[in-house]
Amino acid sequence: MDLAFTPEERAFSDEVRTFIKNNLPPDIARRVAHDLHLQREDFMRWQQILGRRGWHAYTWPTSQGGPGWTATQRYIFETISAELDCPTIQPFGPRMVGPVIFNFGNEAQKAQHLPGIRDSTVWWCQGYSEPASGSDLASLATRAEDRGDHYLVNGQKIWTSYAHHADWMFCLVRTSRDAKAQQGISFVLIDMKSPGIVVQPIPMLEGTHSFNAVFLTDVKVPKANLVGEEGQGWHYAKFLLEHERVENSNIGFSTFAMRRLHRIASATLHRGRPLIEDPVFRSRVSATEAQLKALEVTTLRALSSMGSGSSPGAGLASALKIRGTEIGQRITELIFEAAGPQSQMLDVAEARGEGNLEGLDASLHGAAPNYFWRRAMSIYGGSNEIQRNIIAKRELGL
Ligand SMILES: Cc1cc2nc3c(=O)[nH]c(=O)nc-3n(C[C@H](O)[C@H](O)[C@H](O)COP(=O)(O)OP(=O)(O)OC[C@H]3O[C@@H](n4cnc5c(N)ncnc54)[C@H](O)[C@@H]3O)c2cc1C
Repeated sequence: MDLAFTPEERAFSDEVRTFIKNNLPPDIARRVAHDLHLQREDFMRWQQILGRRGWHAYTWPTSQGGPGWTATQRYIFETISAELDCPTIQPFGPRMVGPVIFNFGNEAQKAQHLPGIRDSTVWWCQGYSEPASGSDLASLATRAEDRGDHYLVNGQKIWTSYAHHADWMFCLVRTSRDAKAQQGISFVLIDMKSPGIVVQPIPMLEGTHSFNAVFLTDVKVPKANLVGEEGQGWHYAKFLLEHERVENSNIGFSTFAMRRLHRIASATLHRGRPLIEDPVFRSRVSATEAQLKALEVTTLRALSSMGSGSSPGAGLASALKIRGTEIGQRITELIFEAAGPQSQMLDVAEARGEGNLEGLDASLHGAAPNYFWRRAMSIYGGSNEIQRNIIAKRELGL
C-alpha cells in the first residue's frame, strides 16, 4: 500500500507521525495500548490537542473549518493514530451530528455548534434507540408536542453511549403520528442541562460505564433547535447512519488489535515454541490479515467516493459495516485464544485503567472483557442482520 503513496502523501505521513509523537500524552497512550477504559477527560484532552491543530474534525471540508483532507490523507491519519496508540476520536460530534448540521442546519445552528465540535469543547451523544425501537427505529415513540416557540419532549432513550459525559444530545423525536412512521420524525438538538432530563447508568458486567438510559419528562426544546424541516428527521438520520457505518468498518481498531495479537501470540508458548510459529494458528492469523487488507482498500474506495461530508450510499456502507465488524471480532477471538487461561483473570481496577498497567499482563487480562465487549460491534449502528436486509433490498432488489 505504501508503495502507491505520492511524495506529498509520504510527507503528510511524516507530519502526522511527528505531531502525534510530540503531542500525545504518554499516560493516555499507555491506557490505549492496554485497551483500558478511558474517562471523559482522557478523550477530551487528546481531542482538544487535535482541535488546536485543526485535526479533530478531520473529515470536514475547508468550507466548514475542517482540513479538507483527501480520502488517502484521512486513511493515513487514522492508521498512524491507531499505530501510535491514540484514543479513538469520539464520533458523535465530528462524524455524526457535525455533518448533519453543516448539510441541513441553519446558519445560527452552524455558528452555535460547529466551533465546539471542531475544538472538542462540547461532548455530544446520540439519542436514537428506545426500549421498543432499536432495529425498527422508525417506530420510535418519544414525542415532541408543538407548544408554539418550543417542543415539549417526553419519552425514553436507551443504550445512549456516554450520555453521562454529554453536554448535548442529537435526538430523534416524533412530531406527528398522522403520516407514515418515517415521515413523522424530527431531528432536534437537546441541551443535556435542560430540566426534565435524567441520565441513568447501565453498568457493564466488568465494572465500567459507557451506556445509559435517558429519561425525558416535559423537556422544553426551543424550536430553534430543530434541524432542517419538521418531519424530515428520518432523512437526516439515514444520512448520519450511513456515515456511521463507514466509520464502523473499524480499520483503526482492527489494525491496533492485530498488532496486539502478534505481540501476545509471540510471547505465548505452545509446545515450547511461540504460538505465532504454530502453522495452524499462523494460517488463521494470515487469513484474517489478508481480509483486513482487502477491507482497507474497499474502505478507501468508499471514502474517496464520499468526498468531504457526502454519503457513500446505503449498500456499500452496510457492506463495510458487516465486513469490518466481522474482522474486528475475529481478531479479538484470536487474541482470546492466544491469551488462554490468563484471560480468565478479571481485574476490575485494571479494566477501569486504575491498576498496574505495565507489561503484557494487562493485555492478557483484558482479552476476555475485550472479546465480549467487541460482540457489540455487530449490534450498534444497526445490527448486521439489518445491514444484510438493506443490501438485499437496495442492491439486490429482493
Ligand atoms: C455498544 C453499543 C452502543 C450503542 N450506542 C448507542 C447510542 O449511543 N445511541 C443510540 O441511540 N443507540 C445506541 N445503541 C443501540 C443500538 O443502535 C441498538 O442496539 C441496535 O439498533 C439494535 O437494536 P436493539 O438492541 O433494540 O435490538 P432489536 O432490534 O430488538 O434486535 C434483536 C435481534 O433481532 C434481530 N432483528 C431485528 N429485526 C430484524 C429484522 N427485520 N430482520 C432480521 N433480524 C432482525 C437483530 O439483528 C438482533 O439480532 C448502542 C448499542 C450498542 C451495542
